[in-house]
This record gives sequence, C-alpha cells and structure tokens, in this order.
Amino acid sequence: MSEKTIFKRIIDGEIPANVEHDDEHCLAFHDVSPQAPTHVLVIPKKEIASVDAISQADAALLGHMWVVIGKIASELRLGDGYRVVVNCGKDGGQTVDHLHFHILGGRSLSWPPG
Ligand code: 5GP
Repeated sequence: MSEKTIFKRIIDGEIPANVEHDDEHCLAFHDVSPQAPTHVLVIPKKEIASVDAISQADAALLGHMWVVIGKIASELRLGDGYRVVVNCGKDGGQTVDHLHFHILGGRSLSWPPG
C-alpha cells in the first residue's frame, strides 16, 4: 500500500493544521507556506489524487466543495476578489497527490501566473 499523503495525515489528525472549515465531506485549512495574505487549501476527505482522478461519482462532492469555497471567501472577507487555483500534475506544479483547491486573496494577484 502506498504511503499516506501529508493531506491524508492532516485529515486523520496525525499532524496539526489551522482548520478553517471541517465537515463530513471536506476540510479547509491555512497553507503552511502562504503565497498571499489569505491562502487556504480546501481538500476532499475522499482520497482523490488529482483533477485527473475525478470521476462522475465525485460530481456532488465537487459541487459541495465549490459552495464551501464561496462560504470561506465570504467568512474571510475576500470581497475585493480572490483566486481559486488547482494545480494538476508535474507541469501544473502539483506537489501533493491529494486533490486540493488553493484559495488565494488579500492582495492584487497578477495574471498570467508563472
Ligand atoms: P500544490 O503545490 O500541490 O498545488 O500545493 C500544495 C500546497 O500544500 C503548498 O502550497 C504547500 O505549501 C502546502 N503544504 C504542504 N505541506 C503542508 C502541511 O503540512 N500543512 C499545510 N497547512 N500546508 C502544506
């Protein structure tokens, strides 16, 4: 069996995180290395390795996560705008093989990304 990802270890309570939201389906916590004044990661509790591993069976879960993302943005007062980023695979810059949405806000974000 492959080793647990760092995010699975956070879900399982084996390592601490600054949790912003926790429900039956997903967990949101502040990134340990923030790239903006607000940098929160939203992850499914189900182990999905990346966008490439999403299936039709995950549609309701993904819809729920988008609702949670909007709720977190509102709670963290990101009314001036924010960005939601999902890195996928090596060229996409994904470093943790557990699906996650980055919520970045609190400053003006440039475009295009690097
Ligand atoms: P990726 O590069 O895969 O899109 O994003 C992974 C993110 O996870 C990075 O922004 C990184 O800072 C964050 N991260 C990695 N390990 C930990 C950890 O142990 N705790 C928290 N809170 N964030 C982590």
